[in-house]
Amino acid sequence: MTDVERRVALEAIAAEVRVCTNCRLHETRTRAVPGEGDPETEVVFVGEGPGFNEDRQGRPFVGRAGDLLVKLLASIGWRREDVFITNVVKCRPPENRDPLPDEIAACAPFLRRQLEVLDPAVVVTLGRFSMGTFMPGARISGAHGTVRPVDPATGARAAFVFAMYHPAAALRTPAIERESYADIAAVPSALIDARRRREAAGEPGIAPAIEPTHEPMIEREPALDAADIDPSAPPPTADDPAPQLTLF
Ligand code: URA
Repeated sequence: MTDVERRVALEAIAAEVRVCTNCRLHETRTRAVPGEGDPETEVVFVGEGPGFNEDRQGRPFVGRAGDLLVKLLASIGWRREDVFITNVVKCRPPENRDPLPDEIAACAPFLRRQLEVLDPAVVVTLGRFSMGTFMPGARISGAHGTVRPVDPATGARAAFVFAMYHPAAALRTPAIERESYADIAAVPSALIDARRRREAAGEPGIAPAIEPTHEPMIEREPALDAADIDPSAPPPTADDPAPQLTLF
């Protein structure tokens, strides 16, 4: 698919999202939030659902959680425009409640189609609802910072999922914020590994289906105890330059 074809396909999905009435969330939304980013990216970040600011602006992660996401990306030398950012549900759940299973199911075809178009090497999940789509059955406390092959049924036909805490959780809990900086520092190497595996499998554009497993491919360090963490310490910075987000 060419760059132009990808843009057109993503815009067609976004246009459907903006007028979608497939679940009750459309009744209370101001604007639907299809997602945005570089159509040629290798990395897609998937959050939970729009909050107050996103609902007003029709753009993902533009509130405080978005500010932290931008800082997390900056810590590895990436910008939000370099990746694609979207959500499991595209309309704001009222009062920021958790999305309900039937709402997630109603919205799932949009995410699946976005992933089919984007064909990412890495999907980074933000929070447990997103993780539930790509690592079914995993617990965020154990799975954050780990990588697994993605089930191609999600739409990402040859990708790896990297689980992270939701930035809103990191805003509430300094220990989780520290762990989030540690986790995102491993995303560039997960991308390099994913590229290698896709390339080893043949032409980048014709990567094979990857069998999902329930074993993490990259083990993270054991989870930190809150007692081990100095909340006043500055976040870690990447000493090494992160890989550029263009390969193919
Ligand atoms: N939280 C999310 O999960 N997604 C957004 O777009 C904003 C906040």
